[in-house]
Amino acid sequence: MLDDQFHVYDTTLRDGAQQEGLNLTVADKLVIARHLDRLGVGFIEGGWPGAIPKDTEFFRRAQTELDLRHATLAAFGATRKAGVAAAHDPQVAALRESRAPVVTLVAKSHDRHVELALRTTLEENLAMIADTVRHLRAEGQRVFLDAEHFFDGYRSNPAYAIECLRAAAEAGADVIALCDTNGGMMPTELGDIVHAVAERSGARLGIHCHDDTGCGVANTLVAVEAGVTHVQGTANGYGERSGNANLFSVVAGLQLKKGKRVLDGEGIREMTRIAHAISEVTNVTPHTHQPYVGLSAFAHKAGLHASAIRVDPMLYQHIDPALVGNDMRMLVSDMAGRASIELKGRELGFDLSGDKEVIGRVTDKVKELEAHGYSFEAADASFELLLRDELAGERKRHFTVESWRVIVERREDGAVTSEATVRLTAKGERVVAVGEGNGPVNALDRALRAALEQTFPELATLELTDFKVRILEGSSGTGAITRVLIESSNAEGETWSTVGVDENVISASWHALEEAVSYGLLRAGRVPD
Ligand SMILES: [Zn+2]
Repeated sequence: MLDDQFHVYDTTLRDGAQQEGLNLTVADKLVIARHLDRLGVGFIEGGWPGAIPKDTEFFRRAQTELDLRHATLAAFGATRKAGVAAAHDPQVAALRESRAPVVTLVAKSHDRHVELALRTTLEENLAMIADTVRHLRAEGQRVFLDAEHFFDGYRSNPAYAIECLRAAAEAGADVIALCDTNGGMMPTELGDIVHAVAERSGARLGIHCHDDTGCGVANTLVAVEAGVTHVQGTANGYGERSGNANLFSVVAGLQLKKGKRVLDGEGIREMTRIAHAISEVTNVTPHTHQPYVGLSAFAHKAGLHASAIRVDPMLYQHIDPALVGNDMRMLVSDMAGRASIELKGRELGFDLSGDKEVIGRVTDKVKELEAHGYSFEAADASFELLLRDELAGERKRHFTVESWRVIVERREDGAVTSEATVRLTAKGERVVAVGEGNGPVNALDRALRAALEQTFPELATLELTDFKVRILEGSSGTGAITRVLIESSNAEGETWSTVGVDENVISASWHALEEAVSYGLLRAGRVPD
């Protein structure tokens, strides 16, 4: 484990879970905690035991089901209620009983919030902070304090805001995290306040930022420059409103840009995978432009860049993407020149550098197809098939399709079913197969596999994982056309995407389907004859 000098404190499971539409079960939370531990964060805030039954259960199950290698669990909760002894407050008892090694208490430090929201006196609020910290410390738990609305409070009444911090520190709180709860701060002003507070309070400070001005990460990094040694944030920047400071960007900034070792172990090299694994659990579509870990974070499109990237990739990227487990990607698009095609070929394992003629042909072909509505940016597998055809000088597939047909039927009972028939030749054998499905594409997929399964049994493990349809405006005199993107995967967990374009949605789908299966067979080591 890292020493205690600097804390990376994750609050995905508590503050991040406030995000609209995000709903985590206890099992989800346990899985996310394991991913965060793998990344190497120092603290994982699991939730608010006592206030939220699911969180009480999380801490109970965590004792036997979580085997954290790097992180320490923290329970979140409030200071005691006004006029009640800390030892007799049931909410404080739940924090004790969570058996979390760390308790993070949220406390008011804004005088107006004390009077208007908490409806108590400024003196009683100070006593609530000190009593609760002292009580939990005596019970053997380490205590951190989240000073809620700190920056707004400091502007309203700096002396009182500082007094709250002192009360907590003197009672034994190890860290006091200054919270920009409304997320409205700007970096320079926040840095100045942190600097002043560090001098006046003498306490160990942390920072908790929200991203309402788009400055959540910047504010966190500025606070570190100003002296805080504890940063809070959430995976993928989850959180209510505009989200919390994105912990992934914060740790990458500190570790890769500032040379500060803040994560335990080498988990940062897996950060991209971890970010995506967490979004699988939260069921929130990953933001493709997310710094460091987004699919497009190191993707290049312009032909001009591509020719320089061929010489030295670092000319056009701010870090080596491998440092965070991401990849540089070349986007094949109609903006692309020959250099992009050559680079894309290299990325896929084809050295085209010596073959100017093939590069020229592929570039022309891509431009022509893109003019008809194709897009290879998200369809690497279709691009690879095109490239292989151009290299071979002919279209090579594992099977030749004679015809296909699909009917959609509404039965008397109201059920709608589809039935497809596919006729093809594979390894010299003519096959006719039928498939049924809940929709026409599903039926075609089944019929195609049924026709091929004798010859290629490995197709049984091929799965169609995603299907996207986009209607494109027709150009000069043509009607609207449809572009279909299909994502497939195999038993090894490899995924690939194929594209089909046609005026008819079924025909576009068939094209993408046929390429998906062809590419799957290539992946399985089958050489087309
Ligand atoms: Zn917050």
